[in-house]
Amino acid sequence: MNKDELEEEVKEKLQGIAKQIKNELPEDFAFILLTCPFNKKPNEGQMMYVSNANRDDAVKAMKEFIQKTKNNYGNDTKILVHGAMQYRCEKCGKEWRMWLEVGVEGENKKMPCPFSIRCKCGGLAQHINWQDDIWLPKPILLEEKMSYFQLDRKGLNNHDSNACGIPVLK
Ligand SMILES: [Zn+2]
Repeated sequence: MNKDELEEEVKEKLQGIAKQIKNELPEDFAFILLTCPFNKKPNEGQMMYVSNANRDDAVKAMKEFIQKTKNNYGNDTKILVHGAMQYRCEKCGKEWRMWLEVGVEGENKKMPCPFSIRCKCGGLAQHINWQDDIWLPKPILLEEKMSYFQLDRKGLNNHDSNACGIPVLK
């Protein structure tokens, strides 16, 4: 399937989904549905959208949304963690806890997390005190200051068997 055919197919699918959304939402709600292919260089992968609002209104709403959420982007995403591991930097000696987003290691494991990660100082930090790994009986919400391994959603979506938790250091 070439690029045009693929885009044509995606466009049709989007319109199908848009019809469903329109049926589900209360009448005075507009929606904008965006999609673009993963892992494409700019200009290669085209962003496609469908909306029940006209284009000017849709663009205006998106601009306002981006402007308003720019500074706290990510803060409103609720991330659940179900455990933690201790890491120590070989270079600066710092030790800290890396929390695990649900899906990284543990129960219902979708991907592992790396044994060695890069410390903020540039050194290499390794998983230590394995016997002290924490496993929570119930997942908790990640707090702002907690470093953690994020689920590699892109890798998961692409069925990448090498997908690994992505370290996010606070
Ligand atoms: Zn360090």
